[in-house]
Amino acid sequence: MRIVLLGPPGSGKGTQAKFIIDKFGIPHISTGDIFRKNIKEGTPLGVEAKSYIDKGQLVPDELTIAIVEDRLKEDDCKNGFMLDGFPRTVAQAEALTKALESMNTSLDHVINIAVADKALVDRLTGRRVCLSCGASFHMVFNPPKKEGICDYCSAELVQRADDNIDTVSSRLEVYGTQTKPLIEYYEIKGLLRAIEGEKDIDKVFEDICKALGSDK
Ligand code: ADP
Ligand code: AMP
Repeated sequence: MRIVLLGPPGSGKGTQAKFIIDKFGIPHISTGDIFRKNIKEGTPLGVEAKSYIDKGQLVPDELTIAIVEDRLKEDDCKNGFMLDGFPRTVAQAEALTKALESMNTSLDHVINIAVADKALVDRLTGRRVCLSCGASFHMVFNPPKKEGICDYCSAELVQRADDNIDTVSSRLEVYGTQTKPLIEYYEIKGLLRAIEGEKDIDKVFEDICKALGSDK
């Protein structure tokens, strides 16, 4: 199973990725999580990525592509992977196709989770995340069992620095101009699986499983 999760920020990619990787036993590769880990550790990559992320802009293609190319060469990706938040530009999508070709493989499915802008703003501004395991919660729509604590690893939940209304607006604009064209890009290739994302989390997962040709 070689899968890409596509969709605007806040559409539920990270939430669904957790269920998908458990069900299919494939690694979860989130470029956003990789950048946040580097920011937390203060690496040179983290310092550079932060300057873009704080403004709601994309980290440059060259840097992002190199990270994903290296990650895909790791052993745990041999039998599949779940890419979340990559590709985000046509250049990234083309680099991904080439990288997979050089490994004699290709994508199986691109899942596009559609959610309207109004709902995205409410989701992103109320989101709380675990910086330890990457799990995503929402104060109202998907609260953790114990307030402020991750259900999965018991670490503290925090609000992401870029989940404020100003940065969210920039991120949605960047999504519209740079990432949305990928829907058509993958539709033409016959890889797109369209998912209606404004349903309960469980129901969205059920629809994703169906689109992947599997029961929930
Ligand atoms: P993404 O990874 O696409 O940015 P997340 O998975 O982090 O999005 O979800 C964004 C926010 O929306 C989180 O607070 C999450 O708990 C919440 N959320 C995810 N799926 C749904 C859903 N189907 N209905 C309501 N809220 C959701
Ligand atoms: P995410 O966790 O997917 O919401 O990503 C958080 C931020 O990291 C984005 O707003 C971008 O600034 C950056 N980022 C994540 N993935 C990519 C990517 N594929 N290309 C460029 N920037 C990215």
